[in-house]
Amino acid sequence: MDSEHAVIIGASHAAAQLGASLRQGGWQGNISIVGDEAIPPYQRPPLSKAYLAGEKHSDELLIRPATFYEKSAIDLVLGTRVTAIDRQAKTVTLHDGGSIPYTRLALTTGARVRKLSLPGHDLDGVFYLRDLQDVDRIRAYVGRGKSAVIIGGGYIGLETAASMRKLGMQVTVLEAMPRILQRVTAPEVSAFYSRIHGEEGVNIVTDASVESLEGSGKVAAVRLADGTRLDADLVVIGVGVMPATELAEAAGLEVDNGIAVDEFARTSDPDIVAAGDCTSHYNPIYDRRLRLESVQNATDQAKTAANTLCGKLEAYHALPWFWSDQFDLKLQIAGLSQGFDRVVLRGASDTGRSFAAFYFGGDRLLAVDAVNRPKEFMMVRRALTTGMRADPDKLADDSSDIQQAFS
Ligand SMILES: Cc1cc2nc3c(=O)[nH]c(=O)nc-3n(C[C@H](O)[C@H](O)[C@H](O)COP(=O)(O)OP(=O)(O)OC[C@H]3O[C@@H](n4cnc5c(N)ncnc54)[C@H](O)[C@@H]3O)c2cc1C
Repeated sequence: MDSEHAVIIGASHAAAQLGASLRQGGWQGNISIVGDEAIPPYQRPPLSKAYLAGEKHSDELLIRPATFYEKSAIDLVLGTRVTAIDRQAKTVTLHDGGSIPYTRLALTTGARVRKLSLPGHDLDGVFYLRDLQDVDRIRAYVGRGKSAVIIGGGYIGLETAASMRKLGMQVTVLEAMPRILQRVTAPEVSAFYSRIHGEEGVNIVTDASVESLEGSGKVAAVRLADGTRLDADLVVIGVGVMPATELAEAAGLEVDNGIAVDEFARTSDPDIVAAGDCTSHYNPIYDRRLRLESVQNATDQAKTAANTLCGKLEAYHALPWFWSDQFDLKLQIAGLSQGFDRVVLRGASDTGRSFAAFYFGGDRLLAVDAVNRPKEFMMVRRALTTGMRADPDKLADDSSDIQQAFS
């Protein structure tokens, strides 16, 4: 082959950014994005928020207008699944038997939902929530007065609950752990979200052990191990995701809780980069390998991967950040709280709807969960990126200027 061809597998957040950044970085060769979903790359976060609540149309979800790809000479190959990578021949095989040659390859295959094999899991009206098609199917079952049971009290489960309450539904969230958001937040933040969901009419059941989904043909109820039976017109299961690594594994690339990449987004094959939810990488701020599931990571790592393919090695060391919208609450998270041994609160988490929880490991600030507190979020982002120190007493003093807490 005489011309360069970058082939990107997967067509979502990371892919859209990678394609655009390749052109910005001066990539002269062909670019193809091959994705198994039928529409151009779209934003996933609104799926459990404004799109589920009927406040956004699918056209408004596109990351870039369809014309962008045409203008940028990026070939979108949609509705097409890549089934294998031949690293010797430098081709990818498609589900219809066709193949595409590449000189450089990018894997942005993302993540897939973790499935539960409960009795009744295949009944009509039982859903997972990862892509637009899932939500379109769910939307055919929602409606004022109907009952939804959501299995999983993580961000996606709670956002789904909030959106369904907005639609006037009866909503129960079942969480297997003693508290919602247990894996990702401090007890104070879990208690805050439990209180708000209760005030908004969501029934939250913790320590819940789901025994079966019941119904004939269509789901009608969820049965718990303690005998409780909850009516359900629909069930949404949100119990986490797993990185989509099968293609990489079958091709013999190194996989370590995600496709293992270095700080330049290179896999163990120098001609193949990877970015987004499907990867694990070393983060210098937290001095450990991470697998992140966020738009920030998909976008920033894709920029690094594109630079690498353009011959410009720039290490990826962005600070992780994330958000979640539920009811009138905008949660913004900067940094990673894992490993914290102390939480400092600013504002009343037990009464109001606006506060910040700062996470410390020893005397080092690790992260913030900021609810309706954009200033605190911005300040911590800056502090963690520039290495500023934080004074816990000043952070806790809600009457003082937040900037005074950092030096
Ligand atoms: C409901 C929901 C709400 C979310 N809310 C937030 C939020 O508020 N904030 C936030 O930061 N993040 C949020 N996230 C997470 C965020 O959407 C993901 O981190 C992001 O989508 C990751 O992008 P990605 O490009 O790495 O992978 P993905 O978005 O998972 O895309 C991968 C794509 O590759 C395709 N693919 C996989 N294998 C193949 C193959 N072999 N051939 C062809 N195509 C293939 C997949 O079908 C998919 O379209 C949310 C996710 C969901 C599902």
